[in-house]
Amino acid sequence: METETRYCRICRIEIPKERVEALPDTLVCVKCSEKMGGENEVIITVVATGKPGSLKKTGQEVMVKVKPRELKWVQRIPRQK
Ligand SMILES: [Zn+2]
Repeated sequence: METETRYCRICRIEIPKERVEALPDTLVCVKCSEKMGGENEVIITVVATGKPGSLKKTGQEVMVKVKPRELKWVQRIPRQK
C-alpha cells in the first residue's frame, strides 16, 4: 500500500512515512507532537473482572482509551495553497 506524503499541520515539514503508517490519523510530526504533549491523550484504566454473578474478582482487564487532543488551535493557521 502506498502511503501518502503528509505534512505537519504545525511546522509543515514532511511527516516520516513510518509515522504515518504507524499512526494513520496523525496530523503533526514527532517534534510538534512532543511539544503539545502527545497528539493523543491515552487513558489507561485497570478494571477488576470476575465471573458474572460472582463478587469475586479473579482477573484484571486493562482498558485503553485514546482521545485525540484538541487541534483547534492548529487549524487557525491558514492552509498553504
Ligand atoms: Zn511539526
